[in-house]
Amino acid sequence: MRIEGAHGYRLVAVGQPLERFDLPTLEPGPDEVILEVAGCGVCHTDVGFAVDGIPTRKPLPLVLGHEISGRVVAAGDHSASWLGRSVIVPAVIPCGACPACQAGRPTVCRNQFMPGNDGDGGFATHVRVPARGLCLVPESSALPLELLSVIADAVTTPWEAIRRARIGPDDVAVFVGVGGIGGFGVQIAAALGAAVVAIDIDADKLELAAKHGAGLTLNSSPMNERDLKTAVRNFAKQSGRKNIGLKIFETSGSPAGQQTAFSLLDFGGYLAVVGYTSHKIELRLSNLMALDAMARGNWGCPPDQYPAALDLVLRGKIAIAPYVELHSLDEAPAVFEAVVRHSITRRVILKPVSEP
Ligand SMILES: [Zn+2]
Ligand SMILES: [Zn+2]
Repeated sequence: MRIEGAHGYRLVAVGQPLERFDLPTLEPGPDEVILEVAGCGVCHTDVGFAVDGIPTRKPLPLVLGHEISGRVVAAGDHSASWLGRSVIVPAVIPCGACPACQAGRPTVCRNQFMPGNDGDGGFATHVRVPARGLCLVPESSALPLELLSVIADAVTTPWEAIRRARIGPDDVAVFVGVGGIGGFGVQIAAALGAAVVAIDIDADKLELAAKHGAGLTLNSSPMNERDLKTAVRNFAKQSGRKNIGLKIFETSGSPAGQQTAFSLLDFGGYLAVVGYTSHKIELRLSNLMALDAMARGNWGCPPDQYPAALDLVLRGKIAIAPYVELHSLDEAPAVFEAVVRHSITRRVILKPVSEP
């Protein structure tokens, strides 16, 4: 089974616009599938590759995009059962065989495959990916398949951070930065029963968070650290939640957000670092010791967690539509520029439009 005539948009050099590219004939290996892409989310990480010069593991030129949903249109000999299925491709696909995978730490697998980083990704009409770890979308799904693409990273990465933090009904969860990642985090934590605080500097994002799970929203731009801390602690007290220590999620990926998140740590607190920035901040690490607190990060999410996250979306506990905007794949160069300039603030999903 070969797929001819596919096209995508690739990054040729850092700082240059994405360029239309006719993909060569695509043929799946035995353990691979070819997807007809339904949608591909545009992530901060793509901007990092294209603008900040963070090197892709497979050298440029490369088709970016790692938040992919689609339908399997060709499958290798060992992957035939996937043919015709609708799927979400995990952003990070572990090898399943190395010591890290065997030890139950698939997110740190050194042989992992990330579309749009280790090979051509989803800013395309078709993409070739390993069949391992694909997340099946049930035929009964009432949501358009392209909307589900953002589950591949923007939903599952906070999902994994929240799972590791063991969030439950006796917790107070605080999200610093409630754009794509944090906005989904707020909804997941609320669905698990936690009382949720949303902190941001953007009034629109806070308004959306208030509609989708946040019990308290705080605009941190006019507030100093002390007032912010007081407001969060008063909310925690009034919420009546019994667990000791706030569970704080840094989902802004900005130095200011990281400062804020660290400053909110209280006795027995927990800090999850979900956002990424290449910048450094100055902090007193000994606060962890003095507060008996904990900080940890996670690189993506193991594929075996995807079905549970998808289920929460399909049951309507996580709203995707208000957090995204759809654009045609062929607008990719201009839309990507707009994301870089921050003139688009919602998460963009690129959707190939079938030719009339
Ligand atoms: Zn990403
Ligand atoms: Zn591995």
